[in-house]
Amino acid sequence: MLSTMQDEPLSLATLLNYAATFQGDATVSTWTGAGVRTMTFREMGADAARLANALRGFGIGEGDRVGTFMWNNNEHMVAYVGVPAMGAVLHALNIRLFPEQLVYVANHAEDQVVIVDGTLVPLFAQYLPSLKTVRHVVVANGDPAALTAPAGVQVHDYAELLAAQPDTFDFPVIDERSASGMCYTSGTTGDPKGVVYSHRSNWLHAAQVCAPNGMGFTAEDTILAIVPLFHANAWGLPYAALMSGSNVLMPDRFLQPAPLLEMMAAVKPTFAAAVPTIWGGVLAGLAAAPQDISHLRTCVVGGAAVPPSMMHAFEEKFGVTLLHAWGMTETSPLGTVSHAPPGVEGEQRWAYRYTQGKFPAGVQARLVADDGSVVPADGESLGELEVRGPWITGSYYSPDGAQVDPDKFDGGWLRTGDVGKISPDGYLTLVDRSKDVIKSGGEWISSVDLENAVVGHPAVAEAAVIAIPDPKWDERPLVAVVLAQDAEAEPAQLRAFLADKFAKWQLPEHWTFVPEIPKTSVGKFDKKRLRAQHAAGDLTITTLP
Ligand code: ADP
Repeated sequence: MLSTMQDEPLSLATLLNYAATFQGDATVSTWTGAGVRTMTFREMGADAARLANALRGFGIGEGDRVGTFMWNNNEHMVAYVGVPAMGAVLHALNIRLFPEQLVYVANHAEDQVVIVDGTLVPLFAQYLPSLKTVRHVVVANGDPAALTAPAGVQVHDYAELLAAQPDTFDFPVIDERSASGMCYTSGTTGDPKGVVYSHRSNWLHAAQVCAPNGMGFTAEDTILAIVPLFHANAWGLPYAALMSGSNVLMPDRFLQPAPLLEMMAAVKPTFAAAVPTIWGGVLAGLAAAPQDISHLRTCVVGGAAVPPSMMHAFEEKFGVTLLHAWGMTETSPLGTVSHAPPGVEGEQRWAYRYTQGKFPAGVQARLVADDGSVVPADGESLGELEVRGPWITGSYYSPDGAQVDPDKFDGGWLRTGDVGKISPDGYLTLVDRSKDVIKSGGEWISSVDLENAVVGHPAVAEAAVIAIPDPKWDERPLVAVVLAQDAEAEPAQLRAFLADKFAKWQLPEHWTFVPEIPKTSVGKFDKKRLRAQHAAGDLTITTLP
C-alpha cells in the first residue's frame, strides 16, 4: 500500500527559497581583515538567482559542472546554493591540491565554468591552460584582466556579470536523486576520487546536522565555518545554515590563529568547525594572548582524531566544548558526533566524549574482520568500519561508467579504511586508519593513541607517528615531535611520560624533532610525506636503548 503523502522532491532549490524568504534576515558575513562584509539570506537568494541566470546565459544546464576555486566567503556561499538550485552541479575545487591533482580533478569532473577569487587568480592562471573543458571563468573580488584567457575561454567579472542579471530565477523541479555537488577526497592516502552528492542526500544530511544529536543549530547561532567549503562537502554547514536560519561567518583567506581570534573577538560566533591542527594553533595563540572565547558554545572537530588534552584545555581554560565528530568525504561527511549520553558524569562522561561519537539513525554501521566476518559491536572487538545510509556514497564518480576502486565497496556497504570498535550503545572508537596502524611483531600499535598521548606533554605542540620498517618486529613507531615555543624535552623524558599509558612493547624507541609536521591540503598530518622524508633519510632520528 502506498502512502497518501505528497511526492515532493527534497531539492536544494526549495531549501534556498525557504532560506531566502522565511529565514531572510539571517546573514552570511566575510571577514575582510579589518571587519566584515555582510549579506542577508534574502540578498544571497537574489544573488543566487542572478548567478543562475548568468550561468544559463553561458549555456549551463542540468547536470553541468560548475567549479569554484575560492576561499570561504559570501560569493562562495552564493555559488554553493545557486548552482545546485538551478540543477547544475557544484564542484568546489581544493585550492591547495598539488598542481597535477588539481588539473586532474577539474578535467575528470569536466568543469565548464570556474568561479575564482581575485586573490587566487595568479595560482589559477597556472592551471587554466591545462583545464580542457573550462569555457568561462568568473573572477570574484578581483581584476579579471589579471587573467590571460587561453583561446576559447571567456573571463568575466563576478560583480558586473551579476549586476546585469534579473534577481529571480524559475528554479526547475528536478529529481531529488540528481547530482547537486561533488567533492574529491583530499588524497591523504591515495589519488583523489570523486564523490557526487544528490539533492536528497544533502537535504537529509542537513537535517541531521541541525538535529540536537548533530550540531544542534538554531537561528540564534553564528557558525564560523573554518573548514573549507571544498573539504568534504563543507561538513554540511551551508545547507544546515539555510535550514536552521543560523548566521554564517566566513574567514576568507584569514586562516592563521591571530586573525581567527581577531574575527572571533569582533563577531562572537557561537559555533565553529575545523580540523584539530587549526584548534592546536588557536590554543597556542590563546596561550600567547589570552582572550575570552566563551561566546563559542561548541566547536565541532573532526577529520582526524582530537587529542583528549586539547578537549580538556578548551573546556577547562576557556569554557568551550570541543565536540568530536567523525566523517569522510564519502559520508557527506557526518558519520558520528560525540555527545555523551544523559546522566553520565565525570570521567565516564569524558570517556564518551573522547570517542569519535555516536552514529545517528541515518548511518548504519558494522565492523568487519580481515576474514570478511562481521564482528560484534561489543565495545571491544576490532574491525574495519563499514557504513551505509542515504548520505553515504555507493560508488566513486566515473565519467565513462567504469568502476573506480570497487574494493572500497562491500555488498552495499562503504569500506572506510578506518579500524575501530563500536560500543553496544552505538559509540565509535577509532584505533587508526588501516594504512597508518603500526604492525609490530604481529600486534597492532595505534599511531593515533601514541600521538594523543605525546601531545599531552606540556613541551609538545604537535606529534605525528608513522611506522618504519624493523628487521625484527616488521614495523616500529617513529614519533615526530614539534616542540612548543621555548620548550625543551628529551626523547627519554617523553617516553617516560608515556610509560604508564602503554604496554612496554608499544613504547616507541625512535624519535625525531622537526620544525613542523607536513600537512595535507586540508590541514591533516600528511603521513605520506612524513614517510617519504624518512625514506629519503631527511629525518634525524634518536633511538633509545
Ligand atoms: P582524506 O581521506 O583524503 O583525508 P577525508 O577528509 O574525507 O579525506 O578524510 C576521512 C578520513 O579522516 C576518515 O576515513 C578517517 O580516517 C579520518 N577521520 C575523520 N574524522 C576523524 C576522527 N574524528 N578521528 C579520527 N579520524 C578521523
